[in-house]
Amino acid sequence: MKFISFLSCLLFLASCSGQTNKVANAASTDTNERATVTADLTQYKYDPPAVEGEVIPFDTTSAYWKAELNDQEFNVLREDGTERSFTGDLWDNKRAGIYTCRGCGLPLYSSDTKFKSGTGWPSFYEPIHPNYIKEDVDNRYGMRRVEVSCARCGGHQGHVFPDGPEPTGLRHCINSVSLDFVPVEDL
Ligand SMILES: [Zn+2]
Repeated sequence: MKFISFLSCLLFLASCSGQTNKVANAASTDTNERATVTADLTQYKYDPPAVEGEVIPFDTTSAYWKAELNDQEFNVLREDGTERSFTGDLWDNKRAGIYTCRGCGLPLYSSDTKFKSGTGWPSFYEPIHPNYIKEDVDNRYGMRRVEVSCARCGGHQGHVFPDGPEPTGLRHCINSVSLDFVPVEDL
């Protein structure tokens, strides 16, 4: 399974980088209002999807995803649903680590770019790598929004809005159920 190979890769990387874990642990006591911790996660380099902006062929059958995901995950990831705000398990997560796609394990966001938005959904000002997400215009419900999905499996993540903090000014508003969290100590 791809997520397992991803973890194996991370374990290899972690074995080369004990120093960073010390930095992360020291920073985790920081009570700064900003939800992120200053762990240097930029060392974790991943292979981006081969073609920028194009969904990599992955199993897209409903049967596959119904077996992989629970009902709510299926609704959000495969049917572009939205979890109710303040109900997910990651909107208030302040730990240092990596947020991966619940569908396929691709690392999408880092705690380094997570911020407190007050919306009740995990919010980031940028993805780990621009090639790891796909952006499409979403005109549903009479609104023009930019949808964010995983560039590898096409799983719906959320939307991006132009009212985020510096340095990008963007707010990636992501569903908790679309993500898995891997704490830095497990990287
Ligand atoms: Zn994915």
